[in-house]
Amino acid sequence: MSADPLQLARADLRGFAGYRSARSETLRGEVWLNANEAAWANAADREDRARRYPEPQPRDLRVALADLYRVAPEQLLIGRGSDEGIDLLVRAFCVPVTDAVLVTPPVFGMYAVSARLQGARLIEVPLQDATDDFRVDLQAVAAHAEVGAKLVFLCSPGNPAGGVIPRDAVLNLARRLEGRALVVVDEAYIEFADAPSLATDVGVQRNLVVLRTLSKAHALAAARIGCVIADTDVIALLQRCQAPYPVPAPCAALALRALQPESLAQTRNHVETIRHERAKLSATLAALPSVQRVYPSQGNFLLARCADAEAAFRALLSAGVVVRDQRAAPQLGDALRISIGTPEQNDRVVAALRVVEAPLRRDSVSGEMMSHPSGTPAGEAA
Ligand code: PMP
Repeated sequence: MSADPLQLARADLRGFAGYRSARSETLRGEVWLNANEAAWANAADREDRARRYPEPQPRDLRVALADLYRVAPEQLLIGRGSDEGIDLLVRAFCVPVTDAVLVTPPVFGMYAVSARLQGARLIEVPLQDATDDFRVDLQAVAAHAEVGAKLVFLCSPGNPAGGVIPRDAVLNLARRLEGRALVVVDEAYIEFADAPSLATDVGVQRNLVVLRTLSKAHALAAARIGCVIADTDVIALLQRCQAPYPVPAPCAALALRALQPESLAQTRNHVETIRHERAKLSATLAALPSVQRVYPSQGNFLLARCADAEAAFRALLSAGVVVRDQRAAPQLGDALRISIGTPEQNDRVVAALRVVEAPLRRDSVSGEMMSHPSGTPAGEAA
């Protein structure tokens, strides 16, 4: 068993009890007059579902999520999306100015946003754009993390490129950083990947944290249900730092229904369709003259480098298709991220991009203007 990860938490919060809500009391009774709730339901709430404050961690949902992720309920904290998990981790573990959060750009932006809000330092270890994929430079991550990072955020599958970090590599990093930092693996898209989740490793490697969400594969983005999976002491600390009633009852009820066998079976079918569509769209896009490179993705999106990203973005917009413009992100000056939609929506993406011309370039031998051959990275000679 590895070192106690609570030693990494902010010293001033280790003994912090947090807010004791009326719902955290274990009293028994029939008439509940301890929380200043309304005596009657709202006229719009016909089944009287919303009058009382919800359980801070709805028991049924916690058990269902723990079953789904194959962990113990005490190893899991439900929050308002994984976004809240990110924020809680940064607040509980980083002393402003002194401690740092390590990120691997280009990557999901909330790690840096939470760090900024906490006044934590940000250490950036850029992804390496290898010939086949974007890669996390884990040696550099380890070296940089050793000088003051309390949290190392790894995104796997990575947003926006979609690559997976091998489990052994993550575990090695966590072992190397034991006693110094938590390694947080954001698995928002893991259901779409070939690789397994690291959720079941948190009980063994205590400085490992995994983030999961119902927003993507489970199609419940608006319900805002995400989980931190971690050592039980870390979970207890995060809960003490969390708002008193973080999970709205209608959202918990919907999430619970989404975890019933019938809904789960449909979710699995949709994931299979997305994986199939991803492979098809990736191959089709890569063959278009206007697309120079499509990254191999394990998520429900594709990152494409375009010969003329502005023209491609505009063409998609004119066809009514909105994709994520990545051009402001480091190393992605020519890239768009396209979520995988229904087969019809994906066809629309292809149809829009088919009519985008590749910019002309002058052939170095003949001097004639030629279109850019597809599949050739920007700046590289064909
Ligand atoms: N992590 C990653 C990598 C994401 O891309 C997103 C959302 N785009 C999130 C976390 C946030 O998800 P949630 O809806 O669970 O807050």
